[in-house]
Amino acid sequence: MTNATTPNSFADLALIKPLLARLEELEYQQPTPIQAQIIPSVLAGRDVIAGANTGSGKTAAFALPMLQELFTKHNLVKSSPSKGNYVSGLILVPTRELAKQVADNVKSYAVHFNGEIKTVAVFGGVSTNAQMQTLRGGTDILVATPGRLLDLISSNAIKLDRVKTLVLDEADRMLSLGFTEELSGLLAKLPKQKQTLLFSATFPEQVQALTQELLNDPVEVQLQSDDESTVVQRVFNVNKGEKTAVLAHLIKKHQWRQALVFVNAKNSCEHLADKLYKRGIEADVFHGDKGQGYRTRILDAFKSGEIEVLIATDIAARGLDIEKLPVVINFDLPRSPSDYMHRIGRSGRAGEVGLALSLIDYEDLHHFKVIEKKNKIRLEREQVAGFEVDETVTQEMIEANKPKAAPAGTGKKKRKKKAQGGSDDIWLRNS
Ligand code: AMP
Repeated sequence: MTNATTPNSFADLALIKPLLARLEELEYQQPTPIQAQIIPSVLAGRDVIAGANTGSGKTAAFALPMLQELFTKHNLVKSSPSKGNYVSGLILVPTRELAKQVADNVKSYAVHFNGEIKTVAVFGGVSTNAQMQTLRGGTDILVATPGRLLDLISSNAIKLDRVKTLVLDEADRMLSLGFTEELSGLLAKLPKQKQTLLFSATFPEQVQALTQELLNDPVEVQLQSDDESTVVQRVFNVNKGEKTAVLAHLIKKHQWRQALVFVNAKNSCEHLADKLYKRGIEADVFHGDKGQGYRTRILDAFKSGEIEVLIATDIAARGLDIEKLPVVINFDLPRSPSDYMHRIGRSGRAGEVGLALSLIDYEDLHHFKVIEKKNKIRLEREQVAGFEVDETVTQEMIEANKPKAAPAGTGKKKRKKKAQGGSDDIWLRNS
């Protein structure tokens, strides 16, 4: 994960002792490339805009210098509690789980500040009262989802006028989740003079507009590259109606310590869990209809290895850090090609080798090609021994599903192309 410009140690990045001691305990031997580039810029007070592979060590890249700046330069709430419920460092994230995870990371990096730095996470789905109590007297670092933060501002539980550093994590995701209005509401409440760090996997127009509005002469860091990915991607052709059998077979055969299986709908999570249960596999589900208490419990149990198979919708696709997750399986293909990259990025984090499997039947064929094209990847189609695709049936279905009959005169050409290894042959190849 390093390159020629990567400093060899965190000490080279001018981090202070309490942080260095913690990084040693966490066995972070070297800064990741994104940490090497971002930490010095943040310490120099610069705005930053960054795109980086998920799992690249983004959280430490912003959290370490934020903690250092707060500790060395600003008044911490512990030494000067304010009745104003102010906050110094604000980190905005798109999901509840990410809010908790980022806050836990910040707290972990801060252990050698001996409780001097107050870090709080606020997010929806749980009672507001307890969060209001915690915010009393001010907060050094607040990690929040936009909607709940706005609620807390309107009940005067928190004030943003003294924010010194703002982090927008997964900015593209926040906007795609429909937080556009909430974000502009929040940004209007922040002081003009502040440092802003913006992270986004992709840079659609809305993110570019935010960039214009928010950033002042930013340092640009772009580290999304295929070379850095440590996820091995494989794709298996399966017969229509056999996906559950193939999934059960793979889980039993490989005995993965943990497997994260993605489907596209909340009720598909439940259905698949029932079907696996009938095949002797216990799986838990994780989706947006579940209460927050349940979601937290299940995720903790999955992270600790207590749950081996978790079936989830795309609410689990972004940002979640599950240490050494061995495999991600796309039972349903994600609708958006960028979600494919986010899903598979749950595995292969922090330089570990991970595995991402996609099960596709003839109906997924076209969509998978779109995913490949958009993500600039090309994967060999494989088959699972014992579940070989019925080539005749499949071929008939592909033909039957073709959008319309080819105009006269083109049929011959098409057939010829296929015989030479045209697109449908890829589907039939047994590798
Ligand atoms: P993140 O992209 O921030 O979610 O980080 C992904 C994973 O990498 C987390 O489990 C971190 O604890 C871990 N990590 C971050 N930085 C380093 C580092 N320099 N060395 C080793 N592991 C790291």
